[in-house]
Amino acid sequence: MSKDAIYTFAEISKGFDITEKLKLVLFTAGIKPNTYVILKINPEDLGEKYRFEQLLKENKIPFIASRQKGYEEITKVIKNEIRWEFKGIWIGYDLFKDEKSKKDFLRYKRLFAKKQFKKAALVAGKLYGYPTCCINKDLKEIPEYIKKHYTSYEYYKKIHDAERKYPFLFHQICSKECKATAKLNRLYSSTIKKFTPKLWKQYIKTDSFKSEIIVDKESDVLLKGKTIWPERDGHEYEVILRHPHNKKYYLYAYLTKHTYKRGTILKAEIKQKHNYADITVKKTIGILSHIMHERKMPLISRKY
Ligand SMILES: [Zn+2]
Repeated sequence: MSKDAIYTFAEISKGFDITEKLKLVLFTAGIKPNTYVILKINPEDLGEKYRFEQLLKENKIPFIASRQKGYEEITKVIKNEIRWEFKGIWIGYDLFKDEKSKKDFLRYKRLFAKKQFKKAALVAGKLYGYPTCCINKDLKEIPEYIKKHYTSYEYYKKIHDAERKYPFLFHQICSKECKATAKLNRLYSSTIKKFTPKLWKQYIKTDSFKSEIIVDKESDVLLKGKTIWPERDGHEYEVILRHPHNKKYYLYAYLTKHTYKRGTILKAEIKQKHNYADITVKKTIGILSHIMHERKMPLISRKY
């Protein structure tokens, strides 16, 4: 067994984003029973795939690797054009504590393929160690339910609040007061601090800076192809940095009661922490008309 080698790998790897690193550490420590992590492979770090799979084999960790897929990043923002370029490939790894879990996972995939979402979610919830109260609430939150119980602002506020209160978690929580969630968040944080203190520090650090952001698309919940909120009291926009920070054009989810047109440029103060950013808008600078934002590949997004 060389768990320490996995912790070291998690700390120094270039191909794992920070949230992927956290999941890998929690899984290795036996705190998260199973998980899913995404490894990006860039031309400079071709060896990481080989090293990672070797570590999994040495530790007798059953896993399933996805097909290799390409991913893009924003490389330039010129006038009204947001340019995405091919950066490398990524592989998703489903990691299991034992062969039984791997079987349960394959059962989950079959249920999902057969559109038996309720059964699938129950199996998945158990696999990833989510509290039962949260799994049940998540199952209830279909578009009809959301439409009845939340305004647009309330709905996204709930998600933003949960991310800020429980930054180490990866599931939809049932309520801000969920005791099982609070306990899990403490356990996850202390585990990461114990085994990978550098990673923990990096994750809790706040990076404050001023920048200009461009308002892009707005989040929505659809029912039969139509929005459930024809009237809105708030908006969750995807915003993009107009100039790079740490050489990157970050994308953030920005929740506001104001309405902005797509392409609006805002001057903002940004506090980036954990895997979100708190954004305070100072003023509107202008608007980019006919914003061109061609993403050829979908964003990589799957939690667990
Ligand atoms: Zn709960």
